[in-house]
Amino acid sequence: MLTYVGKGYSQAFTDNYDRIIERLVRGEEIMIGEGPDEICQPLLETDAPHCHNDSVMERDAQALHDVGQLLGQKLQIGDRVTIGYPTLESFRQAFVDGITRTACSGCEWFELCTAVSANAYSGVKLRVAE
Ligand code: SF4
Repeated sequence: MLTYVGKGYSQAFTDNYDRIIERLVRGEEIMIGEGPDEICQPLLETDAPHCHNDSVMERDAQALHDVGQLLGQKLQIGDRVTIGYPTLESFRQAFVDGITRTACSGCEWFELCTAVSANAYSGVKLRVAE
């Protein structure tokens, strides 16, 4: 979400993601789920989605661990997080510093996400007012 600039697997994927980001910008809570979530939904409707692969589940677990450490709490499935301005800023800085990028290893979007974060998050859709 931090580096989402409107690019993704398909038009259906980015249309859905755009709608989710709009909800987050309006302050909606994120509930941490297990396995494919609302963002993944368009992929689940395609042939052979990768959403249930072991590598994806491992990536989710790594991200949950890193974000929990950053927030100073052990995050669990079912927990809720709201992305206010201070939280977004700390998430962005930690991402640039590599603190929360364990899950990014081997990801096909690695170069895009690195470039977006290195460019002061220019063009990202997730923006929260101060
Ligand atoms: S590199 Fe992959 S895992 Fe890391 S933030 Fe980007 S899309 Fe997510």
